[in-house]
Amino acid sequence: MTEHVPPRTRLSNEPGTARTRPPAEEADVIVVGAGPAGATTAFYLAQSGLDVLVLEKSRFPREKVCGDGLTPRAVKTLVAMGVSVSEQDGWVRNQGLRVIGAGKRLEMPWPELSSYPGYGLVRTRLDLDETLARRAQQAGARLLEGVTVTGPVLSERTGRITGVTARPAGEEGERTYSARVVVAADGNSSRLSVAMGLRKRDDRPLGVAVRAYYQTPRHDDDYLESWLDLWDGDRLLPGYGWIFGMGDGTSNVGLGLLNTSAAFGNTDYHALLRRWLKGMPAEWGFTEENRTQPIRGAALPMGFNRTPHYFKGLLLVGDAGGMVNPFNGEGIAYAMESGEILARTIVQALARARRAETERVLAGYPHALSQAYGGYYTLGRTFVKLIGKPGLMRFATRHGMSHPALMRFALKLLANLTDPHGDASDRLVNGLSRLAPNPE
Ligand SMILES: Cc1cc2nc3c(=O)[nH]c(=O)nc-3n(C[C@H](O)[C@H](O)[C@H](O)COP(=O)(O)OP(=O)(O)OC[C@H]3O[C@@H](n4cnc5c(N)ncnc54)[C@H](O)[C@@H]3O)c2cc1C
Repeated sequence: MTEHVPPRTRLSNEPGTARTRPPAEEADVIVVGAGPAGATTAFYLAQSGLDVLVLEKSRFPREKVCGDGLTPRAVKTLVAMGVSVSEQDGWVRNQGLRVIGAGKRLEMPWPELSSYPGYGLVRTRLDLDETLARRAQQAGARLLEGVTVTGPVLSERTGRITGVTARPAGEEGERTYSARVVVAADGNSSRLSVAMGLRKRDDRPLGVAVRAYYQTPRHDDDYLESWLDLWDGDRLLPGYGWIFGMGDGTSNVGLGLLNTSAAFGNTDYHALLRRWLKGMPAEWGFTEENRTQPIRGAALPMGFNRTPHYFKGLLLVGDAGGMVNPFNGEGIAYAMESGEILARTIVQALARARRAETERVLAGYPHALSQAYGGYYTLGRTFVKLIGKPGLMRFATRHGMSHPALMRFALKLLANLTDPHGDASDRLVNGLSRLAPNPE
C-alpha cells in the first residue's frame, strides 16, 4: 500500500490541513475508486476542506478499456479542474466528428457555443486517469493505491454504511476504513453498490464495446470518426464503430452494440471487430500485425441504469450509477460532472448541524442528477430503443446522411452540446429534454 504525498509542500491554510488530521483509517468521506468519477469527486471535496480518503485497487498509471475520445463537454470538465490541456502536455486536439454511413461521409466541426470549447481531445486512459488522480491529491485528497475494497461496513442499528473493509496489496488481512459518507465510484460493476443491494436495472440501456490499438498512418486524424454501419463484404453487421487517432502512431479502433439490438447477447465481439476491419482500405493498416495491444471489451452502463443514487449513506457516481450518455456512449464527461454535483452536495450536507438535516441534503442528490440529466436520458433511452431496430437505423442513417443540416442538429443532440439560450436547434434540444419525463 502506498500513500502518495502530493508533490508540493502544503501550507497551513490550504484545504485538508486546517485542522488536525484524523487517523488514516478515518475520514469525512471515503471514495471507492479513483477513475474520472472518483478523482473528480475527491478533488472538489478536498478543495472544500473535507478530509477525503480515496481507495483504489490498482496503481497509476493503469489501463482502462476505453475509446479515449473526449468531446468538448469533457474538455470543459478538465479545464474546470485546472488540468492543462495543451498539446505540449500531450493532449491531441480534434475539431469535430466525421460520420460515415449509407455510403456517405460527413465532417461536422464541434458547434460554436459559449458554454463549451470548440474542440475535443484524445488521451489514453493511462495518462488521463493518473492526471485526474494526481489533481485530487494536489487538492488534498489522500489516495491509497493498491487497496481493494471488499465490502461495506454497516451500522447494526440503522443499516447505514459507516465505512468499508478493504485488502491492501501485500498485506495479509483486511482493514476497516470509516467515514460519515461513502461514495461508490467503482465503475460499471460497482461491487460496493451490489453489496448494498443496488443492482443494474434491466429496463435501462447497456452497451458492450471492444477496442484495440493499431499502428496506422491515420493516427494524426484531427476528427473523431464514427461509423454508423459496419459492413462485412455485402453483409451489414450489427453495431457501430469508431476510429480515433491517438497522435502517437496508433489509432484506437472499436465497436459497440446496445442491449436493444437482437445480436447483443450472442455476438463474438472480437471476431466482429476483426471482420469489420478486414473491409477497411489496406493502406490504413488495421491488420493483426499492426495491432499493438490485445482486443479488450467492457460494458457501458447508460441512462441511469443503477438507481437509487443515494441509499443508506452510499452515494453512486459515474459508471457505478450508470451515467453514460445513451446517445453516444460518452461516459468520462458524465463521470466528472456527476462527481462535481456529488461533491457539492456532500459539502453542504456535512456542514449541517443536525443529522436529520445532513440526511435531507444527501437525499437531494438523486434529484440534482435528475435535474441535470433526467429528461435528456429519457430521450436517450427512446433513441436506444429505436436504433436497436436495424430497419429503422438504416432508414435514419440514409435519411440523415443526405441532410447535413439535420446531422448538425443530431450532433448537438447526441453529444449534448447546446447553449441555454442558443440558436433554434439549441432551443429545440433543450426544450425536448425539459419536456421529457425525468424519473430519478
Ligand atoms: C470500450 C469502451 C469505450 C469507451 N469509450 C469512451 C470514450 O471514447 N469516451 C468516453 O467519454 N467514454 C468512453 N467509455 C466510457 C468510459 O470508459 C466510462 O464511462 C468511464 O470510465 C467512467 O468513469 P468512472 O470513474 O465512473 O469508472 P471507471 O473509469 O471504471 O473507474 C472505476 C475505478 O474504480 C476502481 N475500482 C473498482 N473496484 C474497486 C474496488 N473494489 N476497490 C477499489 N477500487 C476499485 C477501478 O480500478 C477504477 O480505477 C467507453 C467505455 C468502454 C467500455
